[in-house]
Amino acid sequence: MIVQPDYYDVKRLIHSLGQKHSHIHGIPARLERAETILLDNGIWASGEGIAVASQTRTDGHAYTVAAGRCTCADFANGAPMIGRGKWCKHKLAASIYRRFVQEQIAERIIGDGRGSNHKRQKAYPNTYLLFINGALWSERVGVLCRVNWNSQINNHAPATDHDLIACAEWLEQANELPGRLRQETDMAREWQSQLTAEQFDRWMKTGLTV
Ligand SMILES: [Zn+2]
Repeated sequence: MIVQPDYYDVKRLIHSLGQKHSHIHGIPARLERAETILLDNGIWASGEGIAVASQTRTDGHAYTVAAGRCTCADFANGAPMIGRGKWCKHKLAASIYRRFVQEQIAERIIGDGRGSNHKRQKAYPNTYLLFINGALWSERVGVLCRVNWNSQINNHAPATDHDLIACAEWLEQANELPGRLRQETDMAREWQSQLTAEQFDRWMKTGLTV
């Protein structure tokens, strides 16, 4: 299982890519289809790279995006160029997915293996990643993957498609970031202000208000 972007992540990342490249003929239509694929959880790990559903996962077809290439007919024939690369909807979807994972990883890297970082990682098991000798390190799995510096998001990004999948799998089972949990609790408190403290705690744990 690999982590999946939620609705807002997909919309935001599609929008940001669209702002840069929607003047290129053929890109807006393919971005729209990439959005459908992403919203439908149409990305998963394949042996050689990233598998992307042809359109929706239910029709059963998938193509593999690896090393900047896609196995679909559009990539082989009519796909438009951005710079020197060809871009079919699958490659667009895979690229947005990559960006999503990079952002998620960036939020969880707490520095090198020095004492205070180690302590923080121990205090929140399976939540943060350390950056040691060019690799990400997790309390749970040890070395998670190799990373390179990515100037686009000012952080370390998985070095290869294989490393990307390793990050995506780790993120899928990682614990929530404490900051995010706190934020959600605050938001929920606002929505549920009519509940007593006891009812609220029960609602947070079980989703039941009575
Ligand atoms: Zn394709």
